[in-house]
Amino acid sequence: MNKKIAVLPGDGIGPEIVAQAVKVLDRIASVYGHKFEYTYVDIGGCSIDKFGIPITEEGIELCKNSDSVLLGAVGGPKWDACPPNIRPEKALLAVRKELNLFANLRPIKLFPQLASASPLKKEIVGEGIDLLIVRELTGGVYFGNRQTEEINGELVATDIMPYSEHEIERIGRVAFETALKRRKKLASVDKANVLDTSRLWRNVMHSLSKEYSEVSYSDILVDNTAMQLIKNPTQFDVLVTENMFGDILSDEASMLTGSIGMMPSASLSSGTLGMYEPIHGSAPDIAGMNIANPLGTVLSAAMMLRYSFHMTTEADLVEQAVEKVLDEGYRTGDILQEGTVKVSCSEMGDLVVSHIGMS
Ligand code: NAD
Repeated sequence: MNKKIAVLPGDGIGPEIVAQAVKVLDRIASVYGHKFEYTYVDIGGCSIDKFGIPITEEGIELCKNSDSVLLGAVGGPKWDACPPNIRPEKALLAVRKELNLFANLRPIKLFPQLASASPLKKEIVGEGIDLLIVRELTGGVYFGNRQTEEINGELVATDIMPYSEHEIERIGRVAFETALKRRKKLASVDKANVLDTSRLWRNVMHSLSKEYSEVSYSDILVDNTAMQLIKNPTQFDVLVTENMFGDILSDEASMLTGSIGMMPSASLSSGTLGMYEPIHGSAPDIAGMNIANPLGTVLSAAMMLRYSFHMTTEADLVEQAVEKVLDEGYRTGDILQEGTVKVSCSEMGDLVVSHIGMS
């Protein structure tokens, strides 16, 4: 297969970690006879420095015309004083909007090899946590009308949280389809005891659940979900929820693993185009030192193979290679434990590559 990949390394550790993921993709291409063609696009602070804006129209067009987008991270203290409309993160919102990336998939996996990094007790994490949060990304309160007005001598702020049936249905389908590829268990998170948007959400999900009889479906209130993630996280397979609940719950859930450098994510559109990135930021404190953990980005590239290119075997191989490297005891500084071997960012990339096929 020939695939065009837009590569957006960004700022801070972005270029170092993205380089490792590209190495891994190159190895997959050579082992399986694929051709991956990379186009590099400036995003975030480096784009502000060059062009005065966090991403150019041309950059966005390049992403749109690609089969997939691989992103490092954006931002850093150098650009903190930029006016709000040209801050580095603005570019992320622009790409999400322009590419219509409405579904955010965040796998939360506590690798058994890193179980001691979890802030939860061993009895709770058991054999390891393995769940996936599907978050609606382009609707709800973050995109509804808002205003602050003076009423009776004081300021009153209002944020509207709209959801339409088609928005709920399309994210619901992503969630059910994703559950089918996993342990076939889906919990839909809402606040249907209070919110109209949640009642509509629940009705649409119930209708969809009839189409997906193979998936064991349940509803769960968002406040209970926040508690259950701490109390009994291994009960979950796939969770689907609206934008703001998903924002909060996915950050809570990723902390259960204790290793931010390991966590990948995918943002998908209705076609196969997606943007893949680690969940962490640009880590300016360790940028340029070749010590960052590249595995979150490598695992994001594996998600790209799985979700955008439907290369399931190749994706499995990358994930297994990461597990093997961890089994052998290699660790970057952020996940170092007693008795393990410290390696650099680029050495970690090479180790993953060495477990994928022959050279
Ligand atoms: P951060 O995720 O960059 O860093 C938090 C801590 O985790 C730091 O100590 C960092 O060294 C460590 N860390 C993060 N990734 C790591 C990795 N791969 N390997 C080893 N250690 C790692 O969060 P922050 O410090 O709050 O933000 C720094 C900058 O990143 C800010 O400008 C912020 O706006 C931006 N940011 C960008 C994104 C994005 O691009 N999607 C997301 C979050 C934050």
